[in-house]
Amino acid sequence: MYDIIIIGGGPAGLTAAVYALRAGKRVLVIEKNAFGGQITWSPRVENFPGYLSVSGVELGDKLLEQAMEQGADTELEEVTAVYFHENSWSVKCESGVSFEGKALVLATGARPRMLGVEREEELVGSGVCYCAVCDGAFYAGRDVAVCGGGNSALQDALLLSESCSRVYLIHRREAFRGEKKLVEALAARENVEFVLNARVESLLGEEELTGLVLEQNGERRKLAVEGVFIAVGHQPDNGAFAEYLDLDRTGYAMSGEDCRTKTPGLFVAGDCRTKSVRQLTTAAADGAVAALAACEYVDGI
Ligand code: NAP
Repeated sequence: MYDIIIIGGGPAGLTAAVYALRAGKRVLVIEKNAFGGQITWSPRVENFPGYLSVSGVELGDKLLEQAMEQGADTELEEVTAVYFHENSWSVKCESGVSFEGKALVLATGARPRMLGVEREEELVGSGVCYCAVCDGAFYAGRDVAVCGGGNSALQDALLLSESCSRVYLIHRREAFRGEKKLVEALAARENVEFVLNARVESLLGEEELTGLVLEQNGERRKLAVEGVFIAVGHQPDNGAFAEYLDLDRTGYAMSGEDCRTKTPGLFVAGDCRTKSVRQLTTAAADGAVAALAACEYVDGI
């Protein structure tokens, strides 16, 4: 029986592990994809204290190394359900295995939101992408588009502009929501074109994407691109835990800054919970808060 099971191995979950382990607890971290979480999709991180510039993959590796060095057990599994019974949690995974723990920290983050155009799902991997770091290299020397106006879209466009022939950055508003510094860096690139006040209406191409039809300022426009990188935000994935949580209308787990939920013994940390600022630093901060609250809970039962 573990003292604390942490579901999600991103910055929130791995920081929670470090704090719980240093408080002498037995800890398991379960991750379904890649330890490091969303940050592994960021080519450069320049706003995490202590690092002038670091790749997301390297930062994720360091977070994992630190948690393991402190004694964390880790599992690559997808959690499908959790049950609370007589002061302990049973965590069931898709592979059929299950784990028992006294307290749970949910640090499940959020996954990319879909654009919501017809045939989007059908063309995933055939021109429609959600991760420039993962798939950008396939489009070297070609024309691509990026959709979105936040930091993810701006960073994706910057990265793609280094290898793609032309990058159209499509945003539905007049101004970007992401950092000014990134917008300025993009404006200085000759192969980047801002396509503002524009929405993607449809995807062109049968088996492979060949272009986009846009509606821009009331007019229809066609863009010939072989890839479109969709970076229009994220959505949480808290369905498996819904019975024990209050979720807001967009699915985020309701909790205050203390990371506690309505269920004793269940804590939430990072992007999966309701909060106003979702950043690496706030995820890490949540990890510490949730872990210490979970330790207090475990000591009290
Ligand atoms: P975000 O900041 O929520 O931006 C999402 C963008 O997508 C917005 O510009 C939004 O438009 C647009 N959008 C949403 N739905 C759309 C739709 N259906 N069609 C067209 N456009 C749509 O998301 P994010 O860029 O993924 O960033 C999430 C958080 O992570 C942010 O806090 C960000 O600062 C942070 N982040 C940090 C780094 C870093 O380097 N530290 C890197 C990436 C992300 P509107 O502006 O009109 O709402």
